[in-house]
Amino acid sequence: MTASQSAKPAANSGKPKLAFRPLPVPQVDIRGFWGDRVDAVATRTADILYDRCVEARMLEQIDPDRPSPGVVIPFHSPSPDEAAAAGNEFTGSTVTTQMFWDSDWGKTIETAAYSLYRRRNDELEKKIDAVIDMYGKLQQPDGYLSSWYQRIQPGLRWTNLRDCHELYCAGHLIEGAVAYYQATGKRKLLDIMCRYADHIAETFGPEPGKKKGYCGHEEIELALVKLARVTGEQKYMDLAKYFIDQRGLEPHYFDKEARARGEDPKAYHFKTYEYSQSHRPVREQDKVVGHAVRAMYLYSGMADIATEYGDDTLRVTLDRLWDDLMTKNLYITGGLGPSSHNEGFTSDYDLPNETAYAETCASVGLVFWASRMLGMGPNARYADMMERALYNGSISGLSLDGSLFFYENPLESRGKHNRWKWHRCPCCPPNIGRMVASIGSYFYSLSDDALAVHLYGNGTARFDIAGRPVELIQTSNYPWDGAVWIGVEPEAPTEFTLHLRLPAWCRKAALKVNGEAVDLDDITSDGYAAIRREWRKGDRVELDLEMAVDRLYANPEVRQDIGRVALARGPLIYCVEETDNAGQLHRIALPRTAKIEVREEPNLLGGIVTLSAVASKEASENWQDGLYRTEPPAVEEAKVTAVPYFAWDNRDPGEMLVWLRDS
Ligand SMILES: [Zn+2]
Repeated sequence: MTASQSAKPAANSGKPKLAFRPLPVPQVDIRGFWGDRVDAVATRTADILYDRCVEARMLEQIDPDRPSPGVVIPFHSPSPDEAAAAGNEFTGSTVTTQMFWDSDWGKTIETAAYSLYRRRNDELEKKIDAVIDMYGKLQQPDGYLSSWYQRIQPGLRWTNLRDCHELYCAGHLIEGAVAYYQATGKRKLLDIMCRYADHIAETFGPEPGKKKGYCGHEEIELALVKLARVTGEQKYMDLAKYFIDQRGLEPHYFDKEARARGEDPKAYHFKTYEYSQSHRPVREQDKVVGHAVRAMYLYSGMADIATEYGDDTLRVTLDRLWDDLMTKNLYITGGLGPSSHNEGFTSDYDLPNETAYAETCASVGLVFWASRMLGMGPNARYADMMERALYNGSISGLSLDGSLFFYENPLESRGKHNRWKWHRCPCCPPNIGRMVASIGSYFYSLSDDALAVHLYGNGTARFDIAGRPVELIQTSNYPWDGAVWIGVEPEAPTEFTLHLRLPAWCRKAALKVNGEAVDLDDITSDGYAAIRREWRKGDRVELDLEMAVDRLYANPEVRQDIGRVALARGPLIYCVEETDNAGQLHRIALPRTAKIEVREEPNLLGGIVTLSAVASKEASENWQDGLYRTEPPAVEEAKVTAVPYFAWDNRDPGEMLVWLRDS
């Protein structure tokens, strides 16, 4: 969740409220590990996103004062095969217009907005204002706004919700509008998007004469919740709920819509409505299926509605889906969606490493979902996975300097998977940008009489509790060290509960309040220690989380990982890279008895901790051009050095491997 959700009281007064709300972005100053990431986004990525959008000729699509760039791609969404055939690297001359470019503008605006909290950037702000002016001019008198359906395929609005991302684009522009309003106080885009949301509410809904549809690519649901919270307008919340409740009901809207277009509904490229989680009503769903990003956005919206309306039927469904993802379908990196074919899920325990799709957006989406589950109260079941996805499968998608990107995040590479400047489907760069730039809001959440600390690291948070301002200062070298020092500075003595997460990876934790040891067993539930007291200026909390090196093994049902081991330390999953290990990484075998050395490397990859051990490796020997023989290969000793997975491919290109052979 983001700052947008705390700006005003919840829209639906009288109904159950969100128990815990994330702190707004500007109330959390982030330093240390995440401070470096935020700086990279604020000083480089935010500008790069704008520049690449312009280079991709996206301005031409949205600017009514320029000639329309014209139709370039077919009516349906391009399949991944088509995308691959078209080439992933963006080049100016071969770029094709995309029906989802409004969403890229939305996320670019959102990234710029959060970045402005970190660093003034008048030039970028001016450019974003100009983009907003174009959207203002483009908007039709009835409020409708879609650069694709106005500029590229006019006359076809609301005819193909299944494939064409129309409401999805609206959702991202709404999120951008909310964030930009909060960061700059400028409400032009917010007003534009309220007019558009009003139009959408007039078009869709349960009332007679309105369309009974919903978007093939979820996103509008969670965006409308943000819009409702920032404006206090209940109708936007109700519309979000309508889209969720309506999904997958029979007669199926996408069938009806296809027939109206004169198409056979069965001629659907992806064959099954599981692709868009519309195969059955959401409350009857029990498996994570289909396109992974769509699934994460849907579940995020469902979690919002579950908390806003106190809807336990949604909550039960979400827990079922969470279990399915966590126990059968999640990479150890917090990546998800193994297949490029549907950009999503396949079958239980199918987690191939080299061909893992594991889109950056999907991990970012898991962070969104997990953070919303924390709205129902502190629970390490969700926060642990939020941390896993944050530190591994999501930020792996952004180079350390903030300039290059991954779309897929495999767990094994033979050296050809390298970061790119841009993508013909550029959803991931602004998604990771907006998440990193708003990271402060994932650290804490606040209720009427409690503050929950979900993540650790250097930084200062400011919030009001019981009407009194409080400053909370975290000092820690996390994620490299598990010692966390927290200073609590209320303006006047104030009673509240401080919830501190005890991560599942930590087997031994110790807590002191003002120097006195506290028994964690007495005060811990759902993976959080709860300290309730009257806090006074100068109070100090010391949390010591033992950060051991872990050898992790996969459930033997995961055929790709059997006989293999992955290394982890604290929240970080490690990998080996060719540049540290002389290549041929598949030959490395790590003995279970190997002592693993932990070393601080302040000058490597921006300052990391490496893990190294003496392993074994099949020797290079002359096989006389033979492929097979009866004598096994000779084995020699080899030193192996592992680095955090998120930092891979920031040096010389080469092989990479997460799951090592276990011996
Ligand atoms: Zn993406």
